[in-house]
Amino acid sequence: MVKRIGVLTSGGDASGMNAAVRAVVRAGLARGAEVYAIYEGYQGMVDGGERIRPLAWNDVGGILHRGGTIIGTARCAEFREREGRKRAARNLLLREIDALVVIGGDGSLTGANLLRQEWGDFVRELAQAGEVPQEVADRHPHLAIVGLVGSIDNDMAGTDMTIGADTALHRITEAIDAINSTAASHQRTFVVEVMGRGCGYLALMGGLSGGADWVLIPESPPDVDDWEDKMCEVLKAGRAAGRRDSIVVVAEGARDRHGKPITSQYVQQVLEQKLGVDARVTILGHVQRGGAPSAFDRNLSTLCGVAAVEEVLNAKPDSPAYLIGLRGNRVARTPLMECVERTHAINAAIQANDYDKAMELRGTSFREAFQTLRTLVRALPHMAHPDLRRRRLAVLTAGAPAPGMNTAVRVAVRLGLDKGHTMLAVRHGFQGLIDDDIQECAWMTVSGWATMGGSELGVSREVPSGADLYAIARTIERRQIEGLLVIGGWSGYQAAMVLHRERTNFPAFNIPIVCLPATIDNNLPGSELSVGADTALNNIVEAVDKIKQSAVATRRCFVVEVMGRQCGYLALMSALATGAERAYLAEEGITLADLQADLAMLSEGFRQGKRLGLIIRNEGANPIYTTSFITSLFEEEGGNLFQVRQAILGHLQQGGDPSPFDRILATRLAALAIARLQELVESVDGNGAIAECIGLTGGRIQFTSLEDVPRLMDMERMRPKQQWWMDLRSIARMLAQPGPQVVTKSL
Ligand code: ADP
Repeated sequence: MVKRIGVLTSGGDASGMNAAVRAVVRAGLARGAEVYAIYEGYQGMVDGGERIRPLAWNDVGGILHRGGTIIGTARCAEFREREGRKRAARNLLLREIDALVVIGGDGSLTGANLLRQEWGDFVRELAQAGEVPQEVADRHPHLAIVGLVGSIDNDMAGTDMTIGADTALHRITEAIDAINSTAASHQRTFVVEVMGRGCGYLALMGGLSGGADWVLIPESPPDVDDWEDKMCEVLKAGRAAGRRDSIVVVAEGARDRHGKPITSQYVQQVLEQKLGVDARVTILGHVQRGGAPSAFDRNLSTLCGVAAVEEVLNAKPDSPAYLIGLRGNRVARTPLMECVERTHAINAAIQANDYDKAMELRGTSFREAFQTLRTLVRALPHMAHPDLRRRRLAVLTAGAPAPGMNTAVRVAVRLGLDKGHTMLAVRHGFQGLIDDDIQECAWMTVSGWATMGGSELGVSREVPSGADLYAIARTIERRQIEGLLVIGGWSGYQAAMVLHRERTNFPAFNIPIVCLPATIDNNLPGSELSVGADTALNNIVEAVDKIKQSAVATRRCFVVEVMGRQCGYLALMSALATGAERAYLAEEGITLADLQADLAMLSEGFRQGKRLGLIIRNEGANPIYTTSFITSLFEEEGGNLFQVRQAILGHLQQGGDPSPFDRILATRLAALAIARLQELVESVDGNGAIAECIGLTGGRIQFTSLEDVPRLMDMERMRPKQQWWMDLRSIARMLAQPGPQVVTKSL
């Protein structure tokens, strides 16, 4: 018999839940299963009736971009009782549903696991009581469950990100950016309270992304009892150093060392009394839950939803229930109860005022981010250690401007200064090294840069050769540059490689170089993600949402051209996030046969009542079959059935302020890159030079030698030979085009 999967969203709503439901429904149907929505969470499961209904392919169309959850969510007291769960089991059994995908927080997932454990007893009892036919009971001796974490708080172990957390961070950074500008105009002090329950993730990352001056989180309360004085001192010193605004971010679960809650009102009082300033409080509240899901959340939910279907369909009676989440940038599964227990252990550590343990359990990147934040918020760098040899480190941005470059420069400069080094900012990329256009940075030089798009230092695509090399060598010698941090795209990497290669001819080039990936194209070696790509993806997704909205009134197909040069990352990931029927990628090219097949697919769709078509074309997909060509071809062939319009998104993709993800990635990479540069400078003294690039690979941050780049890169096409995201093509294809339409009957 056909497998029936139930899907429910439970607990607090989170943006991206709809994308998860869509993925579960469509992947389930594509795999030949039937998928039933259980409306209003466990309440619907307990109530049964119309609250458990099958969903068809088209029922989950047009929901990817919607916040909240179309199948509703609720809290249900009855499900906490055995009797309630037994009724829920009966309702599932009567519909022959014995597999569940539960999208919720740790409470919801704990409840699901309990139901799974009790299922065998319920089946027996219900059959004995005649409430469920014996043959039905016999067919479903086990309940398979899989959990996806829907929670804006990012408070669950077993996944690096929960569904909804990135979108909540979007709302928080938008708010902090907005408050920043008004605060700076009036030289005001603001206290911003963000959600997160017992988890400081939103406050920490929101504060880091927004360039806040002080952040209070539950896991690491201020380490002194007179923290109020310390905070006020830092804010005062910041003003004295030239800051026009002060922002304190308070997590809703913030507390002091002894467990006493720190409320935003209390912080306000402290600021007013001790600093004599007029402090304003903004409690962000439910705004953080709302709004369209970010590109990241759409894709996270989609990939986890598809993996969840695979997992429930393959579950063995004796295997544990799994949680599907994200590790690095890959979907991964972890036994559910292990995740729940680890989550509870963190909460217990906080309750027991054991903050070292709480921080330990939150993980390395959380701890590193907090450490970085503590340095960044300083008004001035630490006093350098008297024995330290002050190094002269240069930073430049190269290639096309990518959102997040400024964030990375700010972090590198401040952390470098804090270690006692001289930080030199080079203007206009390698051109600045040729022209000796260099400025020594002070702490406040980079003030406010955390949130700014573009590149304040300026960029160029210059890859030096010939006489330029002499000029650069002279600049490096004159300025006594001992290490170089290159933040940029492929031309920046190429230029760094030229310098490294030419070091035998130019002894001045015998310095360590670290490259940090920053390009919207995401086409760099040694890193699976580059700074700027997430912002571009969000820009594309927002634009496509609007384009789609404009088109629903007419039967229309849009051909949208996105950037990426010879790399299809933006095209594929935006197709996944917008539900496009087709993505044309440079990696695959476009053939006439493709165009004919896609035209046939579109025509069939419109004939069947489809109102909107969407095709995303990577700018480098094919030099002959251009966006206008495809548009004209489809328009002509579509006849009266549908119209075709093109939209070339152009530079709006590169613009705008960096997304929270890019700010966080830039911060993390820059902190590690500058530490590495310093280490290399110290270790190679007089022994030649090492040139590396930093990046996220296989879920970890690693350094790759620039000498390995020719092996890793397709130099001609300017993209890595191996691209992890290419594996996602089949998922994008599966979810965009109808699989078997299963006719289901309601019981
Ligand atoms: P979240 O899933 O976001 O943590 P809750 O803790 O409110 O949200 O849980 C949502 C629902 O899951 C509850 O209303 C209840 O129906 C069910 N639930 C939570 N905890 C349990 C539990 N320990 N046992 C059974 N059901 C639970």
